[in-house]
Amino acid sequence: MGAQVTVEDLLKRNAQISQNSYPTLPEVPLPNIFIVTCCDPRVDPVEMLGLERYEATVNRSPAGRIRPHFQGLLFLDQIIKFSEIMIIHHTDCSAAVLKSDDVRTALKTSAPGKSSDIDDLVLPGFDE
Ligand SMILES: [Zn+2]
Repeated sequence: MGAQVTVEDLLKRNAQISQNSYPTLPEVPLPNIFIVTCCDPRVDPVEMLGLERYEATVNRSPAGRIRPHFQGLLFLDQIIKFSEIMIIHHTDCSAAVLKSDDVRTALKTSAPGKSSDIDDLVLPGFDE
């Protein structure tokens, strides 16, 4: 299976899979762990932690920062009542070499006239 899958490919897979029954929430155990990790394709929390279905809520973003997921955590915790939070960073993360100011400079080139909005962005780099 290659890495160059398309949305159309995924929709076809989903059409096939959705023919099976889909459990309702009361039928499945709620996860007790909220995991945040990097979206780097080398970091697969299912593989590296041996996660089984329903054991954790996994949230991925560049650099594995919790900030973009914090509102979701607060919202879900009202239902799920997480007992543990796990934040995973990894070696050789591209966020360590990509500085937020470099991203801001590139964005300002792409969107001139939006400098103020771009300056206000909270980016996930490790330089903050
Ligand atoms: Zn990373």
